[in-house]
Amino acid sequence: MKAVRKKGINEEDFLRMVEEKMQEVGGLLDIDAAAMIVAKHLGVDLPARRDLYSLERLYITDIVEGLRRLEITGRVINVDPPLVFYRKGRTIKVSKILLGDKTGTIPVSLWPPHTQIVERLGLSIGDVVKIYNARSKKFRERLELNVGEGSQLQIIDEPPPDIPPLEHFIEEDITTFTDLKILSVCPPVETRTRWGTRRVACIEAKTPGNIHVKIFLWGSKAYWARYLEPGHVILVKGCLREVRGGEEQTPEYHVGKYFSIKLLNTIEVEKEVTVKDYRHSPNRLFFNLEGFIAGLTPGRGNTLTLLLSDGKHLASLNLIHEKSKEQVMADLFERNYGRYLTVKYIENIHSRKLSYRTTLWTVFQFQNRFLKKSKPSREIKDIEKGEQILIESPIKDYSFGTAYYCSYCFQKIFSVEHDCFAEREVKVHAIPYFRLFLTKENQQFVVPVPPINKFYEKLLNMGLSYLEEFFLENEDPTSIVEYILNEAKASGKKLSINGILLEGARRLLLIPIELTFIS
Ligand SMILES: [Zn+2]
Repeated sequence: MKAVRKKGINEEDFLRMVEEKMQEVGGLLDIDAAAMIVAKHLGVDLPARRDLYSLERLYITDIVEGLRRLEITGRVINVDPPLVFYRKGRTIKVSKILLGDKTGTIPVSLWPPHTQIVERLGLSIGDVVKIYNARSKKFRERLELNVGEGSQLQIIDEPPPDIPPLEHFIEEDITTFTDLKILSVCPPVETRTRWGTRRVACIEAKTPGNIHVKIFLWGSKAYWARYLEPGHVILVKGCLREVRGGEEQTPEYHVGKYFSIKLLNTIEVEKEVTVKDYRHSPNRLFFNLEGFIAGLTPGRGNTLTLLLSDGKHLASLNLIHEKSKEQVMADLFERNYGRYLTVKYIENIHSRKLSYRTTLWTVFQFQNRFLKKSKPSREIKDIEKGEQILIESPIKDYSFGTAYYCSYCFQKIFSVEHDCFAEREVKVHAIPYFRLFLTKENQQFVVPVPPINKFYEKLLNMGLSYLEEFFLENEDPTSIVEYILNEAKASGKKLSINGILLEGARRLLLIPIELTFIS
């Protein structure tokens, strides 16, 4: 009472309010519990009691700190996947949901065994749950409920009539996808965004109308990916922002504040699609590509293009993401030329044949297998694609240009006036675009020359580092390279190329293994 008087409230008024509260809840509260609730409304701090009796049909607004054996019914407004963390050698799991009734909302922490309902994808926003034996406490200045070992949580089919519908709590539009078939699950990764580094996962799913959709799971919602699998048929509900970016026809959705995933069914789907034979393009948004590394050239904008081959065809993979560029650039490339690689989670570019690009989830798995070298055939007539051939021919034509990339930020740079140079020790990587055109027995060949020192030394008498030096001195090496190649062209000097013959779009492609001028 001292605390109440200090706040300037009349003792009689306070007791009257307590009585009113007791009547309102139908005599289910004892005088102490009612006093606590009234005191809370008045903004008076009363010492928490640890022995409150079971309170039935209590409203969220009535909850004060320190209550035990609470019983409350509310509508689920958000479900977050369990967060797993480690403390003192123990694994701790907690899933947060948000509950609402006609008086307000309250966050609820579900501890084991109640995290299971979320892990099994059993709870959806809009569901009404009844919780027994919860405790109230303050967490970071906010009141919340803890549902732990001694508690119970039940989804109830016939909610009390005074539980408002979902729309009452969420102002934004709620999107519902039912019977979404999950095809791919891209695990959480960190990515740099305008709002700083954020975690993101993605699912590729198909609607019952056979439309592929992508759902981006941001922040703590990325951990849904841990509980999802290809073949899950799910109910997705929540605030989803639809983005139809660029030329892509795939609808993309980004999750907002309120979201849940409920499992409806499980079906058989091919979990991971790996393309080894480039003739077939899978009907998927995310898939894996396997092949040997056959080249590297500058790409559009800040990208690099990695050439991969299945042994018969050439595919180009546009490396958009830093992580991917980092993994193939420079000396790593030289060592890995001809090496087999599985690139996971890539996308097709606008359904263009053999054109792919990296995604935020792309990972490179280098294999311990390299392109097999054999004795090259000298006969063009009866050679099969994918076989090794030796061609001796003068240079008919060429195209050459160089792009430079920063070894720190992997952006294309145009002069030494680049921020990274001022701030730290960085290297510049010259990645030329270099193609040779040859003719032999009325067949036209194009040779994509990879950024490999020994090839540059043989062809131009200078390694790639020369190109880099030119750049650092603010000079363009193109005219020198052109001079050397024009001379070779004019003199009719023969080039001997031992390489793998591939099917190109217009001409035959020759992926060089060895190349040298012969006099
Ligand atoms: Zn940089």
